[in-house]
Amino acid sequence: MLLSGGLDSTVALAIAEKEYRLKTALFFDYNQYALKGEKEAAGKIAEVYGLSVEYVELPWLAEGSSSSLIRGGGAISGNPADSTGVKDRYEGTEDISSVWVENRNGIFLNIAAAFASWQECSVILTGFNREESILFPDNSREYIDAVNKALDIGEIKNIRVESPTVDLDKKKIVKEGIKLSIPWELLWSCYGGGRLMCGKCESCLKLKSALVGTSAEKIVSFSKEK
Ligand SMILES: [Zn+2]
Repeated sequence: MLLSGGLDSTVALAIAEKEYRLKTALFFDYNQYALKGEKEAAGKIAEVYGLSVEYVELPWLAEGSSSSLIRGGGAISGNPADSTGVKDRYEGTEDISSVWVENRNGIFLNIAAAFASWQECSVILTGFNREESILFPDNSREYIDAVNKALDIGEIKNIRVESPTVDLDKKKIVKEGIKLSIPWELLWSCYGGGRLMCGKCESCLKLKSALVGTSAEKIVSFSKEK
């Protein structure tokens, strides 16, 4: 199970644990701005669901990347640095190049396939979402199908990728999360590296708007800083 500590992967976990005997949560450290918050969230959430966590460090991905989600990466197009460390959100433009981390999901899923093989797991679970797949094609069902085709050939054991959230948008994922009583207070869905989720980056804004009017709205806390 790929676990970042954010909403999508946590809800994917909560759905999957009804159906599968989950073994390990994989957390990837690529020196992202959100590392501290994500790592802490993933560790605590895994504990709630009784999973052990493997922390996989990918320093080379951070070193080579120009993504603004990574320390040392480039700036998000047209926006100055903000107090969270991440250089502000990318104002809804369709230019994703500044927040793109090179082949991130491809790297994560292929590393996960090795872990799955070692640990005799047949399914790799991930928290993709439908909305994200519009801008990030490596979050789509089509991508999962393509990775599964590659794993059929590239791995001698029977391992496939599944995402219980791939057809859901953020609002529906929140709804599922409420139904399954996920630990809302532990989530980290922010691109930034502050003490609290910034409430201003693209990821925070998406979560905030999906939470409006729900019972989880008051539980998830964001920084009050302007
Ligand atoms: Zn944020």
